[in-house]
Amino acid sequence: MQIAQNAEREMENEFKKINLIKEHNQLKVLYAMKKNKLSDTHFAGTTGYGYDDVGRDVLDSVFADVFGAEDALVRHNIVSGTHALALCLFGVLRPGDELLSITGKPYDTLEEVIGIRGSGGGSLKELGVSYRQVDLAFDGSLDFASIEKAINKNTRLVYIQRSRGYTQRPALFVKDIKEAVEYVKKIKNDIIILVDNCYGEFVEEEEPLDVGVDLIAGSLIKNPGGGIAPCGGYVAGKSTYVKMAAYRLTTPGLGKKVGASLGMNRNFFQGLFLAPHVVAESLKGVVFSSAFMTKMGLNTFPKPFEKRGDIIQAIQFGSSDKLIAFCQEIQKNSPVDAFALPVPWDMPGYDASIIMAAGTFVQGASIELSADAPIKPPYIAYLQGGLVYEHVKLAVIKAFEAQKKIGRIYGEA
Ligand SMILES: *Cc1c(COP(=O)(O)O)cnc(C)c1O
Repeated sequence: MQIAQNAEREMENEFKKINLIKEHNQLKVLYAMKKNKLSDTHFAGTTGYGYDDVGRDVLDSVFADVFGAEDALVRHNIVSGTHALALCLFGVLRPGDELLSITGKPYDTLEEVIGIRGSGGGSLKELGVSYRQVDLAFDGSLDFASIEKAINKNTRLVYIQRSRGYTQRPALFVKDIKEAVEYVKKIKNDIIILVDNCYGEFVEEEEPLDVGVDLIAGSLIKNPGGGIAPCGGYVAGKSTYVKMAAYRLTTPGLGKKVGASLGMNRNFFQGLFLAPHVVAESLKGVVFSSAFMTKMGLNTFPKPFEKRGDIIQAIQFGSSDKLIAFCQEIQKNSPVDAFALPVPWDMPGYDASIIMAAGTFVQGASIELSADAPIKPPYIAYLQGGLVYEHVKLAVIKAFEAQKKIGRIYGEA
């Protein structure tokens, strides 16, 4: 398809920029592995309590070096990104403390953790931790004046979500996070700054801990797992806070010293080694998709030449039928479960039904090509991931053609 080839050619310079970031991050990962003398013996697993699991300790140390942390906690039994973030929150906050989100409402799954939604589950709210939030300004930037007003003597932790998640806000760049850290610490310097790093890892050369953030958390079935990690999550940052998160994962006193790695370590090391490359593949995939869809007259966000802070691409379809057709065709062009037909369903906790296309090797892994969409106007699909650029390109062209066949629906332009 000529238009697709043109879109690709026009993005050559964007691809070059992505390659430079990839090189930088690949070096970072390689140096961390060299420095920690990674060796075959670290791939052997432990059982039982997992005392003296050298592989696990080296894994923590490699992650810490890559992300500019004093210490890290990388575990297969951190079951998701939400779990990793909850460990940080429950780990460091105490009754009477206040949690302040400065990027608006956090990712949906954190609502019950904080106590914005649901009750009786032992949320932070039930444990006496109050919550306050400052929304992003209309243009998606941080609202510093309102942040200053919101900070009070109880504010103990400031929460920043780096990625857009599945909303129409833009991703933050590390330089924005730096500005926020400096601003907040000037007002009250004992505030702990936690960044939800999901979807942001290796998108830029710097990471949040490089600019003064205290703690980050994320999922290993997203960027830093490189498509190889079969599950897991991580926490990294200042030793004191990582220790507190580890006390929450296991128990006070035991912390990071226990936890059998069961032979999982090699997957995590190999995944981390591949991660800068895989993140670059998925970034090229979304940059191509944005350019191609724009040429085809669709509204995309971010735009093709816009700088990226995460690996998510929003594409607006303007009709539910087209949106559904697009997602279904992504599924049909997946390596796994290509024969399955995703349909919208009422997921608990969401205000619209959701369709999810993910024909992935690791269940639900969104570093692999996947598309999610709430079925509500303006009918936006969130496309992300892709282990292999060529696959993203092919699947997106196919999916574009499939939704085009649906034709014009009620009053669309
Ligand atoms: C994925 C994600 C999370 C955590 O989600 P899990 O599905 O629990 O791993 C949190 N925040 C953002 C922005 C995310 O993209």
